Amino acid sequence: MIDLHLHLDGSLSPSLVEELAKAQNVPLPAEGQALEPFLSVPAHCSSLNDYLRCFQLPVAVLQTGEALTMSVKDLCRRLEAQGLLYAEIRFAPSQHTQRGLDQMQAVEAAIAGLPKKRGDGWSFSAQLILCCMRGGEEKANRETVEVAARFLGKGVCALDLAGAEALYPTDLYEELFRYARSLGVPFTLHAGEALGPESVWKALELGAVRIGHGVRSQEDPNLIGYLREHSVPLELCPTSNLQTKAVADLAHFPLRDYLRQGLCVTVNTDNMTVSRTTLAEEFRLLQAAGMREEERRAALIHSAEAAFLPREEKAALKAALVAGFQK
Ligand SMILES: [Zn+2]
Repeated sequence: MIDLHLHLDGSLSPSLVEELAKAQNVPLPAEGQALEPFLSVPAHCSSLNDYLRCFQLPVAVLQTGEALTMSVKDLCRRLEAQGLLYAEIRFAPSQHTQRGLDQMQAVEAAIAGLPKKRGDGWSFSAQLILCCMRGGEEKANRETVEVAARFLGKGVCALDLAGAEALYPTDLYEELFRYARSLGVPFTLHAGEALGPESVWKALELGAVRIGHGVRSQEDPNLIGYLREHSVPLELCPTSNLQTKAVADLAHFPLRDYLRQGLCVTVNTDNMTVSRTTLAEEFRLLQAAGMREEERRAALIHSAEAAFLPREEKAALKAALVAGFQK
């Protein structure tokens, strides 16, 4: 399995949050198992606010280089244990500068937590996607772009735009992503989650090569045609999309429709801890809603094709996936 859309701060284990908080004297609202309600949405998440509240504590404990290295390392270990072959882990370095780190130091620390280069054959590996923030300061976002350019291919594989899509629409970031293009940094943008197809169109116009979510693309048949024609991958995250009400219910989740229409759709977790999920759980959910085995395999192959990897590494990843299908 491959996860292309996974936020670091939304995927920390409660025990690690507790350990990091104690080491840094960050006050905790509770301890042990009792910490979970502060990190994960309630069983019936009622709003985006419920969802966003769960990021406050993780961000508060990820303000040192050591904490960032440990959290990336811990997440990678858990992903490998879950049977993943590859992941693209994203975070916003500008959110981790409250206690003296600069963005470059934050990214260097996160890179230090990634698994070392794999040898022959494919075992788990991961890269980072750096998020610019909707509503963030222009200067900080430009710095994120520059840091991504500096570490591109050395642990960082792309940029993203995260945060409140409805409050800060994508067209406010035209200049920022023109700058990213001028530095040769590819990007995926969160779009078509809180807002509809117009946001996805804008992301494409800015030069996004993948779309974070894009789950609402079905509202515009012309957009579906464009996504198919240009093989633009969509990073769907079923549980998260249901929790934030981007999709009303599982019966209306468009993954199978998109596959039938020839789109490059991938399945991802978004935030394992906030959404109380894993990639295996996302596939279980989709299978319970009627997804067939060949559709599951098609989505997995799409993930290998959509990864921000050099061509030969994509091919090796795809071969490892196919070998797994035959087991
Ligand atoms: Zn996301």
